[in-house]
Amino acid sequence: MLDHDFHPPLKVREVGWNRCMCCAKPFWSENVIAVRLCNGCKEHHDRRAGVARGGAG
Ligand SMILES: [Zn+2]
Repeated sequence: MLDHDFHPPLKVREVGWNRCMCCAKPFWSENVIAVRLCNGCKEHHDRRAGVARGGAG
């Protein structure tokens, strides 16, 4: 059974409500697979990640 007629040009993303794995608050995520932190926690996470990659902590 071929489903060649079901290939959308756009990449399917898992969009929906996700629960922040940091503060456990529900938040809307456009990619529940990649984005698992709410906006507030994501900023902290990105900042810490940037510092860690920078070297001098
Ligand atoms: Zn959070």
